[in-house]
Amino acid sequence: MKQVNRRDFLKSTVIAGLGSSIITPDLVPKQSHPEKQAPETNPAANPAGKKVIVAGAGIAGLCCGYELMKRGHDVTVLEGSPRHGGHILTVRDGLSDGLYADFGAENITQPGYELFWNYAKQFNLTVLPYPKRDNILRRIKGQFYSEEMLRDPTVLKKFGFNAREITYLSENEWPELDLLYTKPYLSKFKDEYQPFGVGYDHLDTTPIADIYRKEGASPAALEFLGGQETSAQFELWRQAILQMRGLPLFPKKVFRLQNGNQSLPNAFAKQLGERVKLNSPIISIRHQPKGVTVKYLEFGKEKEITADYLANCIPLPAFSKIPVEPALPAEKKYVLDHIAYDSYARFVFQASSKFWLKDNLSINMDLNHPDIGGIWQVAEEVDTHRVALMGMGPGGTTPQRAIAAFREVYPGKQDTIEQALVKDWPREQYAFTCERLNFPMGSLKKLWPHVMEPHGRIHFAGAYADNLNWGMEAATRSANRVAKEIDQA
Ligand SMILES: Cc1cc2nc3c(=O)[nH]c(=O)nc-3n(C[C@H](O)[C@H](O)[C@H](O)COP(=O)(O)OP(=O)(O)OC[C@H]3O[C@@H](n4cnc5c(N)ncnc54)[C@H](O)[C@@H]3O)c2cc1C
Repeated sequence: MKQVNRRDFLKSTVIAGLGSSIITPDLVPKQSHPEKQAPETNPAANPAGKKVIVAGAGIAGLCCGYELMKRGHDVTVLEGSPRHGGHILTVRDGLSDGLYADFGAENITQPGYELFWNYAKQFNLTVLPYPKRDNILRRIKGQFYSEEMLRDPTVLKKFGFNAREITYLSENEWPELDLLYTKPYLSKFKDEYQPFGVGYDHLDTTPIADIYRKEGASPAALEFLGGQETSAQFELWRQAILQMRGLPLFPKKVFRLQNGNQSLPNAFAKQLGERVKLNSPIISIRHQPKGVTVKYLEFGKEKEITADYLANCIPLPAFSKIPVEPALPAEKKYVLDHIAYDSYARFVFQASSKFWLKDNLSINMDLNHPDIGGIWQVAEEVDTHRVALMGMGPGGTTPQRAIAAFREVYPGKQDTIEQALVKDWPREQYAFTCERLNFPMGSLKKLWPHVMEPHGRIHFAGAYADNLNWGMEAATRSANRVAKEIDQA
């Protein structure tokens, strides 16, 4: 296996349908508060410039296209849907008073997301603190608990935690419990792109729950942590990556772009100009030792384009639907078939007031209801008495069901919700997945690092093609990696 060491590379890089809704909003995001943007880039002609097709105009495709364009390459980005941005989608239509919300990717961290922060700076985009994880109320077994309650030894004892766990949880955040058992294992990882050879290769078929148990987890802790289906090797590696990036398992301080995260894809797309072709789904790929030929549709008419390289920035479940000739080798096919994603619905509620304040509650709630996972506020800076709230639930949930589920468990007296929108991602034609899941137990050696390795003239970027499945961070990291690979090929 090829030795993987991307850390140095990353350090040296850029540090330089609507499924259903009560109303039918137009989804094309409008920049009613356009940010001041950097002037368009006019790349100098590169005599060694290559012709590159970028598949998909999500943040990875746009970022990769932008980085290639800056290096003087001839780029065409082909996007199947009529909009760019993919899983980054800011909604305004259907909301009053200038409120907005993100139907897709929502937050970034710091540390972490270094490339994202750099691009925000480069394009003069304002990053705002996003207090969605402050004072979370958690609904556990039908009852709400504040953060203070979940640090109270009396409450913890009632859950059945043992003495060591009670001491730990009274001093640490609730979502960090895993570290009580895993912390001693993590320091063995030295390179965040290298999960092998640190002594845990035999643990890919062991559930992480077995490690928790071995390290003294009580039955109560095991019930909260789960992990029966999660590879111990994968999970220890994942936690070690966070530790190396200086992050807790569940970062409380998160951030977002003012006016919605779509501002960043918009900025890339503006720089790329006519190089981005919307409504141009790729229908087949032919690759040869010296180039690629891609067929796509333009208003139903078949078109063909040839290039030196293809940068695939389409998530693998959608990419797998495109015929590739000659067929990709068995190892790559295994990757295409086994990278798994979740997909769910995003809810946006508009309310006429901060109704929860009357009930002396925080609106940051983990609702733990089968139809609505949580709720929190967005666009707090918009000057209005109204509020935009966000939540998530299973695909197929109607706006009416989402509101009913919220009302079923809301612990206050009354809400003032007056509108609900739903983005049902599983129903999307081209962007039907949401986030990459952990690698299945026992598959790490077959998936890593193959998921990010090129095959001939086809390179792979996107949120799926990096070591941590943190969408926008993985997408921008892998996009920079592929831009550099192609530039230097
Ligand atoms: C509800 C939700 C919440 C999220 N929250 C966060 C978060 O808080 N933080 C975070 O970092 N990430 C988050 N993510 C994940 C993040 O949005 C994605 O990982 C990231 O946007 C993926 O970018 P991408 O460019 O790799 O892929 P995509 O955005 O999926 O882009 C791929 C593009 O390829 C196009 N395409 C598909 N098939 C074809 C074809 N045949 N021809 C041409 N084009 C095609 C698609 O239309 C799409 O535009 C969230 C995602 C969702 C849905």
